[in-house]
Amino acid sequence: MKSPRTLGLLALALAIPLLTVLPLPDFWFTQLNTIGLYSLTCLGLVLLTGVGGLTSFGQAAFVGIGAYTTAVLTVQLNVSPWLTLFIGLALTAACALVLAAITLRMSGHYLPLATIAWGLSLYYLMGNLEALGKYDGISGVKTLAIGGLDFGEGRGFFVLTWAIVLLAAAAVLHLLDSRAGRAIRSLKGGAQMAEAMGINTFRYKVTVFLLAALLASISGWLFAHFQRSVSPTAFGLKMGIEYLFMTVVGGVAHVWGALVGAGLIKLLDDQLQVLLPRLIGTSGSYEIIVFGIVLVLVLKYLPDGLWDMVEKKLPRRQRRNDWGDAAPLPERAKPAAGELLLDVQAIRKEFGGLVAVNDISFQIRAGQIVGLIGPNGAGKSTTFNLITGVLQMTRGQVVFAGEALDRLPSREIARRGMARTFQHVKMIPDMTVLENVALGAHLRGQRGVLSAMTRLNREEERRLFREAQRQLERIGMGAHLHEQAGNLAMGQQRLMEIARALCSDPALLLLDEPAAGLRHKEKQDLVAVLRQLQRERMSILLVEHDMDMVMEVCDHLVVMEFGTLLTQGTPAQVQQDPKVRAAYLGTEH
Ligand code: ADP
Ligand code: MG
Repeated sequence: MKSPRTLGLLALALAIPLLTVLPLPDFWFTQLNTIGLYSLTCLGLVLLTGVGGLTSFGQAAFVGIGAYTTAVLTVQLNVSPWLTLFIGLALTAACALVLAAITLRMSGHYLPLATIAWGLSLYYLMGNLEALGKYDGISGVKTLAIGGLDFGEGRGFFVLTWAIVLLAAAAVLHLLDSRAGRAIRSLKGGAQMAEAMGINTFRYKVTVFLLAALLASISGWLFAHFQRSVSPTAFGLKMGIEYLFMTVVGGVAHVWGALVGAGLIKLLDDQLQVLLPRLIGTSGSYEIIVFGIVLVLVLKYLPDGLWDMVEKKLPRRQRRNDWGDAAPLPERAKPAAGELLLDVQAIRKEFGGLVAVNDISFQIRAGQIVGLIGPNGAGKSTTFNLITGVLQMTRGQVVFAGEALDRLPSREIARRGMARTFQHVKMIPDMTVLENVALGAHLRGQRGVLSAMTRLNREEERRLFREAQRQLERIGMGAHLHEQAGNLAMGQQRLMEIARALCSDPALLLLDEPAAGLRHKEKQDLVAVLRQLQRERMSILLVEHDMDMVMEVCDHLVVMEFGTLLTQGTPAQVQQDPKVRAAYLGTEH
């Protein structure tokens, strides 16, 4: 059985040639062509803004680059339009990469502001350059043709445009359902977690930025040959805002939302241009006001857009489990039991005047479970974050498997075989459990964006899912593979995080308060998992409040208080230590 989404794609693909033979007025095709052109740009915005969380008001500028490139080259230099498409894409890519390098490290509202800035600059550049025809633009652009076949501006162009739209939609859908796509889906709410899984989030931000720009550029190329002319107004800031508007109304996080939004806004725009002058009695750009009101209403009552409503009614896509016989992923060479694995040497972290971690030293040998304990605020999580590179230490050194981790970012430390969970569970709530766990195996795959779009990544995907399922079964979560992660109970979410960490095939596993907030039964399940990992000789650093659990599973304990090392030793030694009793367990014990 095909999913409704695949069926939708097939239905549209069939509808394209069918529509052209129906006796529909030409005007319809002009409308549908414009909607197709808008859809391409909006598809890019779905990737960039809806999924990637990077808001851009400047996409119209990339449409402009594609359109002007082909207009100038075909009209003035008589270059073939099939060549100018690629020249336009190359130019767009170059511009996008420069802009990305400058703006994508900006946080908060600075990125949208920057996109407005370049949207405006490109508009005035196009409008003031003599060679680009200033504000009049360039006319006399020819329609697209192959040999004797002219695509024209009507039915032929419709088939070409919508074939490209559907191919692009399918490519984006495939991309989002892949190793690279899961990384892209973690950009918006899970960047810190993704980095801890070894994902280079900046690189993926640049990737979606580039893809969105390229889609806009293709739209511009088509636009120039459809409109037969280019002028700056079609690529100005107002259009940039409209693209974002269409995408938000349609459903900014959904591929089909782009098409729905583009269609709806275009049709609404046309209706209003006829209707409003009749109602008000004068003509003018009053439709802008109506759009503003519509946008406010949509943001208030349907913040996820129209398609989101439809999506919720469709059956959830059930992934077909076809990876049972996939080849196992490669495993890293593990240190021999008893070998020195982690050597923490006098690490220190100051937050302003507060010494959160005060020259702490301890060691972990391969196969050991070491507990890091201490009252709230003792500095355990901070120690954890220093070791895993989430925070940079003020001074000190961590040596892992013989290598000094001098200020490496967390993704590089993950690559060397450290995997962690977080005190506050970090996951992508709208991905399935299986997909969340597969994020942990990111570094064990290689397939990128292009192989995902063209479905050449299937074999590797099967291997990744097989591993994710294996790790989930290993910790007793095999029954929850296809559930949405956000719907899991707290205990299951914590287990899922452990499975995700295990998926990276770690040499050292770091668990930050895995039992916090768990019910009694969930705690027992967790202890069973830890015991099993102990039998498998997994090396673990465990931060935990639950004394019974720590005493039960740990080989060695490190006790912290106010950032300082209080004592360390076997659980029995630590339990007898009067200092620990006074400071941590309370004297009444
Ligand atoms: P624990 O995990 O042992 O409960 P933490 O490592 O979270 O303790 O915190 C240790 C101390 O450092 C606390 O006093 C906490 O308030 C402080 N602290 C932790 N993170 C930060 C931060 N990002 N900025 C300032 N102070 C911090
Ligand atoms: Mg903590």
